[in-house]
Amino acid sequence: MSSQKIFLFDFDGVIVDGMQEYWHSSLLACERYLNSPYISVDQKLYKRVPNSFKEMRPLVKYGWEMILIAHEIIKSENQLKNDNKDDFINNYHQNCQRILNENSWIAEDLQKMLDQSRKYQIDKDFKSWVNLHNPFFEIINFMKKLRRKEIKTGVITTKGKIFAEKILKQLNIFPEYIFGYESGTKIKIAKKLTKTYEILGFIEDRKKTLIEIKKNSETSHIPCFLADWGYLKESDRYNLSNEIKLLKLDKLEELVAI
Ligand SMILES: [Mg+2]
Repeated sequence: MSSQKIFLFDFDGVIVDGMQEYWHSSLLACERYLNSPYISVDQKLYKRVPNSFKEMRPLVKYGWEMILIAHEIIKSENQLKNDNKDDFINNYHQNCQRILNENSWIAEDLQKMLDQSRKYQIDKDFKSWVNLHNPFFEIINFMKKLRRKEIKTGVITTKGKIFAEKILKQLNIFPEYIFGYESGTKIKIAKKLTKTYEILGFIEDRKKTLIEIKKNSETSHIPCFLADWGYLKESDRYNLSNEIKLLKLDKLEELVAI
């Protein structure tokens, strides 16, 4: 096995809490780019993240799904609300597909709209955009600590790389690698990294991603940690296989002892 060591991190929900930014950027994408006849965007909507949006966030795999969810929440009729969200959640992927079809949307186009929305805010007022993200300082310090131990760090996100990079730079964090959705699936990236590095751990808040890593023979040896502070569904914390450990923010120190 390679003597070069690396520690991997998911970005959203692990390094930063970006809930306000997800809502803001998704809403702005609805307002500026989506051109839907079913919505009108009131500026007051930007002020507060709806609970239904917060509760849907653990299900989101790709950014475009957030535009779709925001659209369902702000529709003038048949809105997605707290009292009917369970139906949506129970058939999440089918519902996303159905809504794409009904509106003749293409997922890639929605993803581009989200990127455009972020780019628009960055060009207009970079500081305000960055301030919509709340970093988890324990993780930031942990990443710095790894660097001092000459352990490399890699960030694997389903966001566009450029956006994660801008926020990390603001936080004074410069990982060796940042992989965005442009680099392919997380499992594909992990497989590739195992060829060069000994991966000491992967901290992620999407349980399904960790399960995939554990099920694949090329990546199953990677120690996987589910971030307790991230966007978890309540049920994620239970029935964890022995191979995936629930990690608390105040237990990070123990990982450096590896
Ligand atoms: Mg995440």
